[in-house]
Amino acid sequence: MADKIKLKFKDKSKAEFDKGIKAEDVVKQKFKKELAKALATVINNKVIDLSAPVEESGDFDILTFEDDAGMDLFRHSSSHVMALAVKRLYPQVKVAIGPSIEDGFYYDFDNLKIKEEDLPKVELEIKKIIQEKLPFIRREVNKQEALKIFKHEPYKLELINELPDSEKITTYKLGEFEDLCRGPHVPNSGFIGALKLLKPAGAYWRGDSTKKMLTRIYGISFPDNKMLSEHLKMMEEAKKRDHRKLGQEMDLFSFHDEAPGMPFFHDKGTFIWRKLVDYTIELMKKRNYQLNMTPIILNKSLWLQSGHWEHFKENMYFTSIDDVEHAIKPMNCPGNILIYKTRLHSYRELPIKAGEFGIVHRHELSGVLSGLFRVRYFTQDDAHIFCTEEQVEDQLQELIDFTHELYSTFGFDYHMELSTRPEKAMGDKKLWNLAEIKLKAVLDKSGKKYKINEGEGAFYGPKIDFHIKDAIGRTWQCATIQLDFAMPEKFDLTYDGKDGRKHRPVMIHRTILGAVERFIGLLIEHFAGKLPLWINPVQVKVLPIAERHMDYGRKVANEMKKAGLRVEVDERSESTSKKVRDAQLEKVNYILVVGDKEQKDNTVNVRTRNNEIKGPRKVDEFIKELLIEVKEKKIK
Ligand SMILES: [Zn+2]
Ligand SMILES: [Zn+2]
Repeated sequence: MADKIKLKFKDKSKAEFDKGIKAEDVVKQKFKKELAKALATVINNKVIDLSAPVEESGDFDILTFEDDAGMDLFRHSSSHVMALAVKRLYPQVKVAIGPSIEDGFYYDFDNLKIKEEDLPKVELEIKKIIQEKLPFIRREVNKQEALKIFKHEPYKLELINELPDSEKITTYKLGEFEDLCRGPHVPNSGFIGALKLLKPAGAYWRGDSTKKMLTRIYGISFPDNKMLSEHLKMMEEAKKRDHRKLGQEMDLFSFHDEAPGMPFFHDKGTFIWRKLVDYTIELMKKRNYQLNMTPIILNKSLWLQSGHWEHFKENMYFTSIDDVEHAIKPMNCPGNILIYKTRLHSYRELPIKAGEFGIVHRHELSGVLSGLFRVRYFTQDDAHIFCTEEQVEDQLQELIDFTHELYSTFGFDYHMELSTRPEKAMGDKKLWNLAEIKLKAVLDKSGKKYKINEGEGAFYGPKIDFHIKDAIGRTWQCATIQLDFAMPEKFDLTYDGKDGRKHRPVMIHRTILGAVERFIGLLIEHFAGKLPLWINPVQVKVLPIAERHMDYGRKVANEMKKAGLRVEVDERSESTSKKVRDAQLEKVNYILVVGDKEQKDNTVNVRTRNNEIKGPRKVDEFIKELLIEVKEKKIK
């Protein structure tokens, strides 16, 4: 009799199967309704192909396009489909790698000259491949065999040569194209319902600018055409909102080759930055935060002690001072720990909430830099909370409320994700488990939906991340709350307990905006540049119709300035309609036209950047209205 395995399903039912049964056959029996949607299966958190045998007992589930991992697998499978099409049309190409990315997938090719106009031809070939419903055929080979299979593919050879000799290597064959790949994939090319190729671009092999420039083709794919066309519409909208474009038009910030990946904030951009920081500080002060400032360059020994040297070195910058090695801080924790250690602390002082708007530098590969979204230096609205174990839950609760208050100010919807112990973790396993239980308890209590990411915590503790949903449905990870039982140990942090003995505080790292600069990019895209009144660098533009209205225009502007509003007068001798158009492009909240009638009545003729005509208003009354809008941080 064959060996048996026991599988448990998400509806809590259990069933016994022959060991080695095809995953697909289990799905056929247990997931009848979802059969068409199943892309792969998950056994004990491992994803395997539908065609693979099930060898172990445990939890069994299917992956669909709705799951993040399912979408990744779908998009990654799409990259093989595209590579096969490219191989068919351009047999001379050498293939590099083809991963899924946040928003689709790409494949890098060498020896490929292709222009945007050529893409429809590739798409046509892709359509054929989808219709052919070619299966992904997996095989396991040893290193020697792999080197033989890929002898004409130098990039694959480089990857294979880096593997240990004993490594089992898997390949997947789709049609006539066999690729080096760990998998898994969708069962066959017919699953890729709709696929669109996006602009080709240059990309260095391994993102390294000293290596060869390859041709990267980006693509996006969905189970059906309707989803694809909705997505393309969203991308079109995203293009209009691109903060890099709007940031330039609105004169907020710029980037320069002299400091790649590091934003230069102009006057108006700096204004937004300061408003955002001031508001965050206001919310911090309400919750009894302290505010620290610590140096950017710190001695290597500190980074060795903190564990950053071991775990974060690849992302750090270094320098030497008086022949002693120093690092530019990638995080603010060690500096704030040194402040904590400057004196003894009693349990009565806890929790200590040490805030810092710290400038951190992290080395990102040049290929991934993207406006304010992916930068090499940024300001973290950071804080480190030192508390007793008993205080952890209350502190977490407060942080969830804090985040909610800040995000609600901008009308952001969001969800939370809990990430648990990663493989490369620091600290005691028991403490990790304890921390994870506390985090879960608080999340459950919040009553909000959350998701668990197994194994994706920081190296020093589990964390809760907040993902903001913007106006066009994209999500952005911003706030993070990380429990840390390890760092207090490493730095021997203590407080004097009620019992007169020394105790170890718990440390919580938290940031709510994430990076101030990135959050500004997000605000620009979310509002399509039309910032709420309270945070807009220029709130009002006064447009005198003719030269003889200039003095009245200036007088109105001065009155508004005295009231604390930010006003500019358009003194150019352009037509009023052109001035209105320009003011709308600048995204000022209110445009005030003044002419003979307004001058006589001491009024302004109000319209908005959305071209709503509000008509004449008494100057003092209009000022009062605006001040209320500012004070209440209204979103319009
Ligand atoms: Zn693959
Ligand atoms: Zn920290």
